[in-house]
Amino acid sequence: MKSRHAIALSAAALALACSKVPYTNRVQYNLIPDSIMRGLGAATYTSMLADVKIKKKGEDNATLQQVGDRISKVAKQPKFDWEYQLIKDDDTINAWCLPGGKIGFYTGVLPALNNEAGMAFVMGHEVGHATAHHGAERLSQNLTMLGGLIGLELYLKDQTALKPEERAILLGALGVGATVGVLLPFSRMHESESDVIGMMYMAEAGYPPAESLDVWDRMADLSDGITIPTFISTHPSHKKRKENQREWLPQARKKYKRNALDYDTQAVLWPMPEKTGKKKK
Ligand SMILES: [Zn+2]
Repeated sequence: MKSRHAIALSAAALALACSKVPYTNRVQYNLIPDSIMRGLGAATYTSMLADVKIKKKGEDNATLQQVGDRISKVAKQPKFDWEYQLIKDDDTINAWCLPGGKIGFYTGVLPALNNEAGMAFVMGHEVGHATAHHGAERLSQNLTMLGGLIGLELYLKDQTALKPEERAILLGALGVGATVGVLLPFSRMHESESDVIGMMYMAEAGYPPAESLDVWDRMADLSDGITIPTFISTHPSHKKRKENQREWLPQARKKYKRNALDYDTQAVLWPMPEKTGKKKK
């Protein structure tokens, strides 16, 4: 009787931890409950914002809010509490979305996005990491190093509860480790999944999905000669990801046709910087 009870319990636990990745339908098993992940996202967000300058006004920020609203609508995450911040930092070519829907875009990434549709893709990509529970998967792998779930719960109560190296593992797993000098590359599988999800989200929100292919070219151009581009150094080659995206393009186009916005979302908002021949920094 006792053992049957135990089996029933562990089956329930497994069922709770089992979920499917949007669009690709990969089945995953996570050891870390969503509620803890959202808590970690919120706590990390607060500490991230303490160290940066935020652009609260201006058209760039208004565009970010608009794109954010549209992508969040199609991502359908009733438990997320969405927020989008434009971080004033021209040297950082990056963006992130923490579990729970806290999003940061650095001004340095804008020229690679070039236009609203490009922004919608990268937003969809980052949101995809969150909705596909990639942070939880990466943290699950490192859970013993963090003292298990108890370590994460302690961090939620008091962020100094973890040793600096443990904190670095946590932030790295959430995709914001660059700020503490640790980069944990998302696996190629996670990146490909997020690319697909990002394309589907952008198309569903009314943006032409083919723009996503151009983002990688501009990202590579932009990073040429400048400080290490976080976005690229932690990601697979842009050629590989373009190949993967092309396979999904027809499906994304169908979604776009049903939802296309009634104005030009590919009009240039953030041109690439002029090449002066002189390398920056
Ligand atoms: Zn990514």
